[in-house]
Amino acid sequence: MLVVMQSQATKEQIEEVCTRIESLGLKAHAIPGTGRTAIGITGNNNAVDLGILESMPGVIECIPVTKPYKLVSRDVKLEDTIVHIPTPSGDVLVGGPHLAMIAGPCAVESLEQCMTVAAQLKPIGVHLFRGGAYKPRTSPYSFQGLGEDGLKILAKVREKFGFGIVTEAIDNESLDLVDEYADVIQIGARNMQNFSLLKRAGRAKKPVLLKRGMSATLDEFLMAAEYIMSEGNYNVMLCERGVRTFSDFSRNTLDLAVVPAVKKRSHLPILVDPSHGTGKRHKVLPLSLAAVAVGADGLLVEVHHQPDKALSDGIQSLIPAEYDSLYTQVKQIAFVVGRQVN
Ligand code: PEP
Ligand code: MN
Repeated sequence: MLVVMQSQATKEQIEEVCTRIESLGLKAHAIPGTGRTAIGITGNNNAVDLGILESMPGVIECIPVTKPYKLVSRDVKLEDTIVHIPTPSGDVLVGGPHLAMIAGPCAVESLEQCMTVAAQLKPIGVHLFRGGAYKPRTSPYSFQGLGEDGLKILAKVREKFGFGIVTEAIDNESLDLVDEYADVIQIGARNMQNFSLLKRAGRAKKPVLLKRGMSATLDEFLMAAEYIMSEGNYNVMLCERGVRTFSDFSRNTLDLAVVPAVKKRSHLPILVDPSHGTGKRHKVLPLSLAAVAVGADGLLVEVHHQPDKALSDGIQSLIPAEYDSLYTQVKQIAFVVGRQVN
């Protein structure tokens, strides 16, 4: 159910409606839009007559949301959500006209490695630095990440260059630490349906970058985002990173068609990760350009100064000079489709 408030409704009127909703044992989510605020109601409202809300001051109407996802849906908010990521160099905006460029190595390997890559990404214009301190690996014998030491390295990169830091949490314990050290909490493909982790991310302070599971349908992807929002964290960015298909020439099949499909159904930004989406260095540039052309709100690209020595995903990582060229070409496509690169 959605309570649509009048455009001139006061803050107090919005609060009163929220209080009434909560008094019925439900959860109220006030979602401000440009013209008006809508209040999404979640919880089990089968037995409750919400008609009473319609008579409250400032309310236009109550409308049922028929989709399984509610807070994620465009029914709740017509215009695109613009996520504000506070960083030491100011807010980075993602969504609406703003295209976010997130780059960095797959894994945090050492202070020297991160500093070297960061020093080369900074002059290109990157504001968001990625790198995994916790790595979900297929094999338990592969490099698992440096853990909290890796987060400390990222904090140093943040301090030195002013980047916002994007890094993955793989469980509740690492999520608490990532929430403390980083600027964006990444939930990886393998955890897209780890519901307790999603709920925990919903209670975190930082924006969340939610990657699509490798066999997740669009509804499952959006429902995962709903889990996060239902706990009160509305700063969610989605990320397409390729799905498993019969295709045998790529690590995954990058499903760019999901970008307009998400935009039709949801107000949330959707980014694209062409690195994991293709698994091959030479495919990252063309798929990045294609992603921006179909309306992606940003790109997550793996960059390493010595990909042949990388502890993970070197084969799909660009060297900084290649990323520089990608960045220039992305800006050209972005201009054509009326977007601005942050
Ligand atoms: C990553 O971004 O490094 C990563 C592990 O990605 P995914 O969860 O998409 O596999
Ligand atoms: Mn990787």
